[in-house]
Amino acid sequence: MSETTDTHANATFEQIGEVLRSHQSFVLISHVRPDGDAIGSQLALGFSLKAMGKSVRLINEDGLPENLAFLPGSEFIESPPAGPLDVEVAIALDTATKPRLGDAALHAASKAKLWLNIDHHISNPKYGDLNLIDATSPATGEILYDLITALDLPLPDETRDAIYVAVSTDTGSFQYPSTTARTYEMAADLVRRGLDVGTINSLTYDENPYRRLELMRALLNTLERSPDGIVAHWELREETRLDLALRPEDSEGLIDVIRAIRGVRLAVFFEELPDGKVRVSMRSKDRELDVCKIASAFGGGGHALAAGIRMKGPLDEAKALVLTAIRERVEETRKQS
Ligand code: 5GP
Ligand code: MN
Repeated sequence: MSETTDTHANATFEQIGEVLRSHQSFVLISHVRPDGDAIGSQLALGFSLKAMGKSVRLINEDGLPENLAFLPGSEFIESPPAGPLDVEVAIALDTATKPRLGDAALHAASKAKLWLNIDHHISNPKYGDLNLIDATSPATGEILYDLITALDLPLPDETRDAIYVAVSTDTGSFQYPSTTARTYEMAADLVRRGLDVGTINSLTYDENPYRRLELMRALLNTLERSPDGIVAHWELREETRLDLALRPEDSEGLIDVIRAIRGVRLAVFFEELPDGKVRVSMRSKDRELDVCKIASAFGGGGHALAAGIRMKGPLDEAKALVLTAIRERVEETRKQS
């Protein structure tokens, strides 16, 4: 099999390394509504490239969320500038599809001659000129750790802390089944390199704004469970978002509360967006109930155990469609077993 002719083959670390070494200017982008893995991946690779003397811009469509502002170097994350940047290489990180980078961020990167696509979503269609997609990796941050250490690139403190937070947040604090021995070995290596575990975990998990708890209370008031106890869901309406002056990142990770109910195999969070669309967030506890497949049927994507959709509203219609699709899938798995 020839790697040069198969566009679906992954690039090797060496090929990626060659691109990083032989170019001078880079823009690093991640997905809209960025989470810890998105911003952490940008900072991790960004600071490694900076330490190599490269010119680097870190752009996110939605800017830097407040809950990740503790990350060293996060002040370098910018909202997209009005015009295209003069850069040679664009690197998409942790982003399953190109449109999820956002229109303004894509415009900012539109002058780049070469696109790298580094991600861990199984649904990623490999839209880069060079792709490094590892769906077995629990976080894009871990792929970057492998890349940086394999190529012996600089690993400054900003990169170290960003990798840890990227992987910690995408694995539910090193708990999801995607967490492997390698993940713990990586974490151990980061601690050996001087990472302050207590402080960084506290900054990541113990700094909830009060309104996040008010949001949890509002969500709990909408909690419902299917009669067989397998599916739990809750929802956030625009009215509550305005009442509590919520920010997009406030709901990050709250779905784990209903995922953790005994007997629940699939948790769903429905959210009305300001543009009238609906965001659906899904978590599964078993691979039989692959939420990426359910999401794909509605134009969404993600992973087998965590996936999302952005779909047409109104909320009640979106909810009915998605819950029906889930119910059908649950019945199918019941017949199989
Ligand atoms: P979350 O529920 O945390 O927003 O997303 C869970 C997973 O699904 C993430 O890996 C995320 O990238 C993916 N995901 C969420 N929303 C969408 C979407 O609208 N489209 C696609 N393709 N993936 C999504
Ligand atoms: Mn990720």
